[in-house]
Amino acid sequence: MAAALPVPAAAASAETAPAATAPDVRVVALSRASEHVLTHAGAWARIRGSRLSRYERMRIWHESVTPTSAAVLVFDAADVGEPNLGYIVETRLLQRALLESFVAAGGHIERAAFDSLEITDTEVHVATAGDGDRGSGPALTARLVVGADGAHSALRAAVGLTAEVSSYRQTAIVATVSTARPHESTAWQRFMRNGTLAFLPLADGTSSIVWSADEELAANLLRLNDAAFAAELDRAADFALGETHLVSRRFSFPLQRLAAARYVAQRVALLGDAAHVVHPLAGQGVNLGLLDAAALAQLVGAAVARREDPGALGVLRSYERWRKSEVAAMATAIDAFDRLLAHGAGPVARLAQHGLSWVNRSQELRRFFIRRALGVSGELPEAARAR
Ligand SMILES: Cc1cc2nc3c(=O)[nH]c(=O)nc-3n(C[C@H](O)[C@H](O)[C@H](O)COP(=O)(O)OP(=O)(O)OC[C@H]3O[C@@H](n4cnc5c(N)ncnc54)[C@H](O)[C@@H]3O)c2cc1C
Repeated sequence: MAAALPVPAAAASAETAPAATAPDVRVVALSRASEHVLTHAGAWARIRGSRLSRYERMRIWHESVTPTSAAVLVFDAADVGEPNLGYIVETRLLQRALLESFVAAGGHIERAAFDSLEITDTEVHVATAGDGDRGSGPALTARLVVGADGAHSALRAAVGLTAEVSSYRQTAIVATVSTARPHESTAWQRFMRNGTLAFLPLADGTSSIVWSADEELAANLLRLNDAAFAAELDRAADFALGETHLVSRRFSFPLQRLAAARYVAQRVALLGDAAHVVHPLAGQGVNLGLLDAAALAQLVGAAVARREDPGALGVLRSYERWRKSEVAAMATAIDAFDRLLAHGAGPVARLAQHGLSWVNRSQELRRFFIRRALGVSGELPEAARAR
């Protein structure tokens, strides 16, 4: 289905960015389910290349044990007969691949920002603000408008859909580092009383760190010079990969959770961070958004095939019921990890910390969690399933 997509100039320029750009410090871990969705959309072939990193293992441990202890939880793709557990891809390359495949499928991109909308019984009229000097952008008319405009969604606000927002009181620090020891295509994650530290393996041998630290600690870390920051990073990682050196600037993101009370209204559907924001410790935000998009496309496609109105509330409500329950289950699990493993104290938290080594001892449990990490459990849209 061809559609018009208002994209602000910064995002639209990703479409034309040459392949040989400097690496983007923002990377995301993509699940197997996301790989299938992107393949279905014609975007995966555009991402494949020397900058795509496959990770084969995850090593997860609590600060109460050493990185080499038998209590470290190890998820290995080989345990479930898979070649890898997923991919690390630069955000900018992912955006470019998606915009290119959208255009290749007949989509049309306007460099404009969403401004306001008017919903009638049969259509929705969208006014856009122009790029740069242009005061107003093109007016768009459709039967359905999809808000994929992030946590501060202007579309969500314009339609009057409310969202529950709360702060994790943590800040994520993101950077690229070189490490003394090779990352062995492994994602490393340490849970600490004051946050979570992850090393995501990149194709060139460096690692992308996501350090979700309590606000005060993060503020102190951001004030340090590069060498002092690297020394703190080494201590926080318990030297799992040896000494580290920063090879990029540091970026920081205050962390919040967000849950829209409704994902849909007449002729309007929200997806991705516009509908829900989860803690990055499980690397699921983009994966959830891609599943939203696949589920919505499937239901809208089926409605069009039945000659029904794709913007009708009945069609959109099925999307909301499907995705809201899947997202709520994932968000609850992620928050439990953050509460019990990253910040927990007391008997329940100690039980959860021991739980890591219990999971490690059971092949069945390990397989259960690996399937979750691959994103191949739950009620999957057709595009997210293996062919
Ligand atoms: C530190 C960190 C690490 C993360 N790591 C991972 C990971 O490993 N794996 C993973 O799956 N997720 C990860 N996430 C989550 C992921 O980054 C988000 O879930 C994801 O970016 C959300 O995508 P989105 O397209 O819904 O929203 P956004 O990325 O916020 O994109 C919204 C888009 O809408 C545009 N927009 C905004 N307003 C307007 C307007 N008025 N008109 C037109 N366009 C507009 C914006 O310019 C932007 O291009 C991480 C998040 C953080 C903070």
